[in-house]
Amino acid sequence: MAFDFDSYRVKPGANIKLKDIPADPKTDLSKEDAVARLAELKNELEALQEELYAAGKNSALVIIQGMDTSGKDGAIRHVFGDVNPQGCRVESFKVPTSEELAHDFLWRVHKATPPRGMITVFNRSHYEDVLIVRVHDLVPRKTWQARYEMINAFENFLINHDTIILKFFLHISKAEQEERLLAREADVTKAWKLSVADWRERKRWNEYQQAYEDALEKCSTETAPWYIVPANKKWFRNLMIAETVVSTLKTYRSDWHKTLKDMSESRLAELHAYRAENLGGESPKKAKS
Ligand code: AMP
Ligand code: MG
Repeated sequence: MAFDFDSYRVKPGANIKLKDIPADPKTDLSKEDAVARLAELKNELEALQEELYAAGKNSALVIIQGMDTSGKDGAIRHVFGDVNPQGCRVESFKVPTSEELAHDFLWRVHKATPPRGMITVFNRSHYEDVLIVRVHDLVPRKTWQARYEMINAFENFLINHDTIILKFFLHISKAEQEERLLAREADVTKAWKLSVADWRERKRWNEYQQAYEDALEKCSTETAPWYIVPANKKWFRNLMIAETVVSTLKTYRSDWHKTLKDMSESRLAELHAYRAENLGGESPKKAKS
């Protein structure tokens, strides 16, 4: 049976209550099957990226958001790890620099968007400007409230310039976060990832969940959808993102193939004309097969 990734999509106008949405996957799949399927999907993604690049018609922007320890880095590594590094980049958004803060909140983001032919993955994004910024009152309420509409307009602008946009919220439970933070603390090879801020932010769990609910409700559109990923299990998280990315890119494939065929035909016609002129129509040796 095909993977029903669409059931995780936030439908425009939906009323999201994260508390009522399971962070544990509901699936008959075993971890072993999921891992095997992920390997296939990674191959498909590698091939799709090559076609995206060759056709040069579209770019793809994948946005990953989630609470601390929700697995943003792991998801990026596991899903995009086999894509040609020349065709894929990851952009991480940290606390803005003073130069960034002196500009509008989309300035640094727009600069990082993918050109045609490329996949860019955002590890955090402009959504931080309606998440941490809202929870910590970093700007007045009126300012962040106006941003949802600006975000939708910005994403729509990118889509109108041939960007394919997919947004994933990695949904973990509060108990799972505690386990992951404690596991990091217990492992000296992982403790470098810890920060006091993780525990400080955890105290604001409910405020963050509310901020996420608003972002998901207000900014999931038909063309730039949000997906809520049950992320308590890493293997399901990776599989779900990979299935969604691959299925979405596949819908563009026939268009890319048509472009590639047209391009090939015109390159060959140019070459034949060149030979006719320079070699008197004589053909070079056939390529060895
Ligand atoms: P990490 O992803 O763990 O390296 O942490 C990056 C930190 O930068 C997180 O705490 C984010 O919330 C924070 N951050 C990212 N974007 C913004 C922003 N626009 N304003 C304030 N803090 C931000
Ligand atoms: Mg962190």
